[in-house]
Amino acid sequence: MINTAWTRRSFDSLQKRGQIVSERQGIRFSLPVLFLFLALSLLCLIPWACVSAEDGVGETNAFAVVLGIAQDGGFPQAGCQKPCCESAWRNVDSRKQVASLAIVDPISNQRWIIDATPSLPAQLHALNQVGKPKAKGPLLDGILLTHAHVGHYGGLLHLGREVMGTNGIKVLAMPRMKVFLETNGPWSQLVDLNQIEIEKIAAGQLLTLNERLSVIPFLVPHRDEFSETVGYQINGPNRRILYLPDIDKWEKWDVKIEDLIEGVDVALLDGTFYAADELPGRDMSEIPHPFIVESISRFKSLPMAERKKVQFIHFNHTNPLLNAESSESQAILSAGHQITQEMDVIGL
Ligand SMILES: [Zn+2]
Ligand SMILES: [Zn+2]
Ligand SMILES: [Zn+2]
Repeated sequence: MINTAWTRRSFDSLQKRGQIVSERQGIRFSLPVLFLFLALSLLCLIPWACVSAEDGVGETNAFAVVLGIAQDGGFPQAGCQKPCCESAWRNVDSRKQVASLAIVDPISNQRWIIDATPSLPAQLHALNQVGKPKAKGPLLDGILLTHAHVGHYGGLLHLGREVMGTNGIKVLAMPRMKVFLETNGPWSQLVDLNQIEIEKIAAGQLLTLNERLSVIPFLVPHRDEFSETVGYQINGPNRRILYLPDIDKWEKWDVKIEDLIEGVDVALLDGTFYAADELPGRDMSEIPHPFIVESISRFKSLPMAERKKVQFIHFNHTNPLLNAESSESQAILSAGHQITQEMDVIGL
């Protein structure tokens, strides 16, 4: 798969740091070696000895980690016998989980996830590999929901009596989303049994997660059958991330996406479909998303520094970006954008 520059490097260096720190405990530095080490550290030539301004991931800095990159149906998708999913049915390693982003604070050992996807079991396991929960703390410090489409909240069922039977996991949801969960089974049972505690959030209102981290939900136009749809801006001590996996079309929004990109360091944006011809026989106007070709053309007048912030996510099983070797994947990189990969770490 494609290495997405600094995010992948950050994850590797994060892992490496853990190893090196434990190796160091058994090493006794001689004086000259110690001086050399200090000099290299000051010059930032030892990767784990300083926080790169580029990736923003330090030993104690908070970070986000990508837990999934696929559209609601995952990859491969149920019932698909077409060439798009053929290799993923054969090869477990090429399968992709549904789009979700975790926020981790290594100082307080707190973890939040954006959206509870049908891939939740594997995603919680993956999250445990990069950020352990507090010994006696809750499984998660909060689940921030974007909207009531199956890939974004269906995983809440794993919190129920039949599976984990959690106790008061905090779910942060917009007003309609909250009412939807409270008044429709089986979700209402999670509320009745206090397996989840839903806290109402408001669009445009800063939500403090802890003294270092906050998020701002913002409304976007989408097929809002059961709930509003929001994206999130995530604010860390050093950097900001935009997470917007689902929107109908950029032009339908009274906000200029370019303005939001300008205010953040990394923007994970709806990349559901690459182009209009992707679902032969289906009316694409019923499931509108900004086609990636439209986004590329819209963003092409932006300076390279802005284009570099844009990473696509939420890929439909038909999307050629799921294949790193495709010409479309190369076109994204040539345009200056990134293709989000699972377990990418983004410093906050
Ligand atoms: Zn979706
Ligand atoms: Zn398919
Ligand atoms: Zn949706």
